[in-house]
Amino acid sequence: MADTVLFLAHTEADGTLGRLALEALAAAKSLGGTFVVGLIGGEVQSAADSIANCGASRILGVAGEAFTESRYATDAAAVEALVKAARDTIIVAPHTSRFARCMAGVAQRIGARIDTHVTGIASGPQISRWYYRQRMEAVLERKQRPWIILVESGIAPAWEGPAGSATIEPIAVEAATRTSVIGRQSPQAEQQTIRPDAKLLFVAGAGWTRKQADGKAHIDDAARLIFGFLHGSDASLGSSKSLVDLSGEGQAVLPFLSHMNQVGQTGATPRHPKGLATCCHGEEPHVVGWRFIRERRAVNLDANCGWARGKADVVYVADAFAVIERVNALLAERAP
Ligand SMILES: Cc1cc2nc3c(=O)[nH]c(=O)nc-3n(C[C@H](O)[C@H](O)[C@H](O)COP(=O)(O)OP(=O)(O)OC[C@H]3O[C@@H](n4cnc5c(N)ncnc54)[C@H](O)[C@@H]3O)c2cc1C
Repeated sequence: MADTVLFLAHTEADGTLGRLALEALAAAKSLGGTFVVGLIGGEVQSAADSIANCGASRILGVAGEAFTESRYATDAAAVEALVKAARDTIIVAPHTSRFARCMAGVAQRIGARIDTHVTGIASGPQISRWYYRQRMEAVLERKQRPWIILVESGIAPAWEGPAGSATIEPIAVEAATRTSVIGRQSPQAEQQTIRPDAKLLFVAGAGWTRKQADGKAHIDDAARLIFGFLHGSDASLGSSKSLVDLSGEGQAVLPFLSHMNQVGQTGATPRHPKGLATCCHGEEPHVVGWRFIRERRAVNLDANCGWARGKADVVYVADAFAVIERVNALLAERAP
């Protein structure tokens, strides 16, 4: 029997669908044939209207106060009900933290198979996934159905189309749960330096903490310049391992960096369209984390640094302190 596709999404706090959801919608559509949309949220009409012309044969919705918040029990119940109502065999959904939390449990309940962190999807259907810390990419098919596929960001252009007036088939779900959401705790926006949706990755290397031409280290200046750049450009902050390791050795370091910022073989492999490395040597264990960064530039005092050996498109042989000071001034001039 040919596969039929259910695309699942949850609304964001403002009732819209996030960019990742629209990318997953485009990925689901790329499988061809008819497909069904399933939406979850406090209110799903405006989200449904925004994709009314996406070509879905049906739009199902689970809505209500209980589905406003991300919570395992209610989300799992909602997804289970949508999958049972749609009876589709392939379920495509964005790999948001909200879905990542509940989907494995849903797969267990409905006897499905699940693949997470999927980075490619093609008719067949076939999916791509990375293994061994992104060293090997595998293309897989599965015989078992239902098959839940959680797709990562950046694998398809976000679906775009005119909004319309959607007719939703409401699906009733018993929202039984013992968990009540009493609030959220998250770092203040200005402390949040990891921004997966940013257009630019700004990498700070250990050079920011090294002695400079005057024989002294300038940690406070480094912190001010890096923070000013992040503020002015909305870039995401990455780091080399050497820089984040310094804190473990009790040395003076940049206060807003943690091992979470580390990019590389033993760190993250972010997916920003552009990257700028500063005071970072560009050694292979670091640069391997840049494999998905399409346009790369580096600022380094050393004309023989690793970036200059074919790892960056442009290397500015310059003092990053002076360069970023000037760039920040230009950003401030352009600020609204
Ligand atoms: C098994 C293994 C796994 C590893 N995993 C990772 C990983 O995941 N991520 C990672 O980053 N590293 C990793 N490393 C470490 C990696 O090999 C390098 O040691 C590390 O990336 C070096 O960090 P750095 O470039 O910031 O520091 P350094 O090598 O100290 O380079 C500092 C750079 O700053 C420049 N500089 C100094 N002052 C200025 C200035 N004013 N203006 C401009 N440039 C200046 C210098 O010229 C120099 O090139 C790993 C190593 C091993 C062995």
